[in-house]
Amino acid sequence: MSGPVSTEDAVPLPAVAPGVARPVLELTSARATRVGSLPVRRLLPRRARRTVGSWCFADHAGPVGGTRPGELGIGPHPHMGLQTVTWLVHGELVHLDSLGSEQPIRPGQLNLMTAGRGVAHAEEDGGRGAGLHAVQLWVAQPETTRNGPAAFEHHATLPQAELDRATVTVLVGELAGAVSPARRDTGHMGAELLLRPPGVVLPLRHDYEYALMSIEGTVLVGGSAGAAVEPGTLAYLGEGRDECGLAVAQPARVLLLGGVPFPEPLFMWWNFVARNRHEVSEARRQWAEGADRFGTVRSALERIEVGRPPWE
Ligand code: MN
Repeated sequence: MSGPVSTEDAVPLPAVAPGVARPVLELTSARATRVGSLPVRRLLPRRARRTVGSWCFADHAGPVGGTRPGELGIGPHPHMGLQTVTWLVHGELVHLDSLGSEQPIRPGQLNLMTAGRGVAHAEEDGGRGAGLHAVQLWVAQPETTRNGPAAFEHHATLPQAELDRATVTVLVGELAGAVSPARRDTGHMGAELLLRPPGVVLPLRHDYEYALMSIEGTVLVGGSAGAAVEPGTLAYLGEGRDECGLAVAQPARVLLLGGVPFPEPLFMWWNFVARNRHEVSEARRQWAEGADRFGTVRSALERIEVGRPPWE
């Protein structure tokens, strides 16, 4: 999947993340859009909520039913300054990148690509027409690594923790004593929770801000009298919580994202996470010219281009 952040998602001006240093409950609706032929709900960035910790992009794709084989692929496109986190609930994708990686991914597995100064990748439909239900997330890289080399890692299995009424799978960072082996350049975490009735009280970190998104089902955030969160809504929880009650009447699958509020101003446009428009203009021009910076992806799919940004 690609992440074409546009001015409909968030005005591309540098802005320090407006973290809220106390517990809150802000519900933000996703924007319905498409990535290639795939319908997605874009939960981050939105004008009202650009980041959660270093998480700066969240697309919930599908579920789409049976499709023509190969229909869902996304052709080669560039990234910089971010990590892509790919997580599947159903279907199969094949990740190809300019480092030479070729990696199928299936539900329960993690693909983590670090763009650094520049990388290109494609995601081909490996599902043989099975359809797709997936989440694609980006993590903003800090100043210390964002101009560094690109990297890719695949985790076929991830650590799990059992709470009373939830199975926790940790994609990155730590939750409930389970620690992911995935690379982590900032203080952040991401975990999938399979919730069973009547729900759980989740242990949280006081110094992290958090948000929750539902992938399947309805969860009441704040306990049985809490706010209903369904697919297509991001529930931002703020900071300063030691725990949070999640109630469900039926099984539900949710993602918890958290981290230390990102301290640097971000400038995001198209597939680039930067600090100012000059960096983005330069990267776009170099992609258009086929510069070595982003390398070459061995994919049968068509390379994705973009026109000049609105400030040029
Ligand atoms: Mn991408």
